[in-house]
Amino acid sequence: MARYIGSKCKQCRREGKKLFLKGERCYSAACAVEKRPYAPGQHGQAKSKLSEYGLQLREKQKAKRIYGVLEGPFRTYFKKADRQAGITGENLLVQLELRLDNVAYRLGLGRSRTEARQVVRHNLVLVNGKRVNIPSYQVRVGDVIEIKEDAKSFERFKLITEVTASRIVPEWLEGDIENLRGTVKAIPARDQIDTDIEETLIVELYSK
Ligand code: SF4
Repeated sequence: MARYIGSKCKQCRREGKKLFLKGERCYSAACAVEKRPYAPGQHGQAKSKLSEYGLQLREKQKAKRIYGVLEGPFRTYFKKADRQAGITGENLLVQLELRLDNVAYRLGLGRSRTEARQVVRHNLVLVNGKRVNIPSYQVRVGDVIEIKEDAKSFERFKLITEVTASRIVPEWLEGDIENLRGTVKAIPARDQIDTDIEETLIVELYSK
């Protein structure tokens, strides 16, 4: 499955913002955006004012980087969001939030979305008791997401939960980090999605 590779910190520097791609580790003093608040590369420090199109493009790139989604699938999410009732931008964000890798991240089953995605890909996650190894799988209300029983004692999860046990689980999920599981209680409302994205800019971009 295609995915972004390369430095996460460079992706943040490209956007000029902390995207928290390494989870809790991003609060440390070693954050590259804080140390070098300009884009990577030879011309990274050159200041240029972004056009309206540039702003829209950057917002889309930011959303793709945060959720680890490539252009093709991202556009597919947008098309579906546009067909759904309600506000297109919000529909787009909700689909991204309901991805299994994101939900696993939100529940603290990975220190970053990338790690949560690996946990899913490595066949360690059950949805309603059945193994699901597709990071983009869309969870539904009532779904129970859980690390499979024989993997719960893995050292990996001890290390993960040392970091994620104090993470605040959003209201639309019910977390149970001690038992490495959680339940989807509701579809997230916009104000329950804390990712720093101006989705209207993305809608404007794709609506051109
Ligand atoms: Fe981004 Fe985190 Fe790296 Fe800072 S430490 S640049 S927020 S990935």
